[in-house]
Amino acid sequence: MTSIDEAAPERPATTDAAADVLRGHIRDVQDWPQPGVVFKDITPLLSTPAAFSVVIGALADIARQRGATTIAGIEARGFLLAAPVADRLGVGLVPIRKKGKLPGPTRSATYDLEYGTATIEIHADAVRPDERVLLIDDVLATGGTAAAAHGLLIGVGAEVVGLAVLMELSFLPGRERTAPLDVVPLLTI
Ligand code: AMP
Repeated sequence: MTSIDEAAPERPATTDAAADVLRGHIRDVQDWPQPGVVFKDITPLLSTPAAFSVVIGALADIARQRGATTIAGIEARGFLLAAPVADRLGVGLVPIRKKGKLPGPTRSATYDLEYGTATIEIHADAVRPDERVLLIDDVLATGGTAAAAHGLLIGVGAEVVGLAVLMELSFLPGRERTAPLDVVPLLTI
């Protein structure tokens, strides 16, 4: 785990270009999936190869800068980002999945949602000891999902070098809830 005393590395220069690209390729969907939520839809980004390439390149630079030796993605949109980043780095990919999807021996973490709870899982043997893992997801909102994923990775022996997200919703307490995880958003909203 990154020490709180350790200065976070600078943001790679490519994150600024990626932020510009994201501004033009994310669709805000009002009141979805429920009233009061503005859903950040990444499908315009996924369907535009040049834009997607810039964003994946920026995430890969964050991973390289932090010396990541493995990429972890959170189901489901995190997979769409984590897989091409792992491929660019030539490193392995660890899926963190919703309960009941992984076949092997698993570890699970349950966290609170606004209404009810959610459970995510990781294979118990997903990482070798002292693997440096960058966690990737599309949006950091309340931080419950990322904090639980962080806990799972620590529990299987990983060193988590950061959480890279396309967008951090800074009006929600995601950063506090995931502390001391080093959060690296391409775009802060
Ligand atoms: P949270 O645990 O509240 O930080 O929520 C994070 C997860 O929910 C991520 O995996 C996101 O994909 C998804 N999510 C939460 N809020 C939004 C939003 N406004 N737009 C798109 N996805 C979201």
